[in-house]
Amino acid sequence: MVTITRFAPSPTGFLHLGHVYSATLAWKAAWESGGRFLLRMEDIDQTRSRPEFEDAIYKDLAWLGLDWDPPVRRQSEHFEDYAILLEKLSDRGLVYPCFCTRKEIAAEITRSNSAPHGPEGPVYPGICRDMAESERQMRFARGDAYALRLNMVKTIAEVERSKLQFHEVSKGFIQCDPAPFGDVVLARKETPTSYHLAVTFDDAIQGVNHIIRGQDLFPSTHIHRLLQALLDLPTPTYFHHGLISDAKGRRLSKRDKDAAIKSLREYGCQPDEVLKMVDYG
Ligand code: GLU
Repeated sequence: MVTITRFAPSPTGFLHLGHVYSATLAWKAAWESGGRFLLRMEDIDQTRSRPEFEDAIYKDLAWLGLDWDPPVRRQSEHFEDYAILLEKLSDRGLVYPCFCTRKEIAAEITRSNSAPHGPEGPVYPGICRDMAESERQMRFARGDAYALRLNMVKTIAEVERSKLQFHEVSKGFIQCDPAPFGDVVLARKETPTSYHLAVTFDDAIQGVNHIIRGQDLFPSTHIHRLLQALLDLPTPTYFHHGLISDAKGRRLSKRDKDAAIKSLREYGCQPDEVLKMVDYG
C-alpha cells in the first residue's frame, strides 16, 4: 500500500528529539512505499503559536533532510471548514454550548461528590447540557464566553458501537470506547475548533491513510474514530510509537531548551548525529 502520512507539529515551541522520532518514522514509511509525507501546522491556538516556532520547524526538518510534499496545511487558514462541521453536528443536536468556567466545573464536581476521571482529566458534569434554549440565546446575546461540547451519550447512540474500531500496527483491531471522555470540547468561542475536530477532518481531507504519532495521543484516537463515524470520514491505520525520555527518564518537553533541535543545530551537531539519537540514520 502506498503510505500517505504526515507530521503535524504545533508551532508552540521548538521541536525536540521526540518530534524527530515521529517525523523520521513517518518520512521513512512514506518514502519506502513511494507515498507522500505531508506537513501540517497545527496552529489553532493562536495565542501560543508563534512564527519563529513555525520557521524553526521548517529549518529543522530541512536540515535533517526530512523533505515534505508541499503544500503545508496550516490549520489557522481553515477555521471556516471547521465551523461548517460544527454547524452540521449542531443541526443534528449533537453539540451544545457550555458557558461554565473551569472554577464552576471544579465546584460542581466537589459539590456533587462524584469525580469520574476520563483520559483527559475530570469528566464534565453536564451543567449546561440541558440548558433552556432561551437561556442559551440570552447568554450568547450577552457575549458570554462558551465552549461547544459534544453530547457524548447522544452521539454514541447515533453510531454503531461495534464499528468503532481502528487498526493499530502490530496490535491489530482496537475497539474504541469514547464514553469515558464525557462531553469533550470541540470548539471555543475564541478558538473555533479543537485539536480533535481539526485533526480528524484534516487527516481525511489530506488523504492521510497512515497516522504515525506518539503513544501519548493513543487515547485521543477513540474520539477521532467516533468523529470519523459521525462525519462519514475514512479511518486511517494508526501507529502510536513509544515516547523518548531524557537521561533522567522524563518525557521530553518543548519547555526544555537543551533538548531543542534548534539548540543542537546551533551547538554544532550534525544532522546524522541527531538522526542516530533517535536510532535512524
Ligand atoms: N499537533 C500535535 C502535537 O504537536 C500532534 C497531532 C497528531 O499527530 O495527531 O502534539
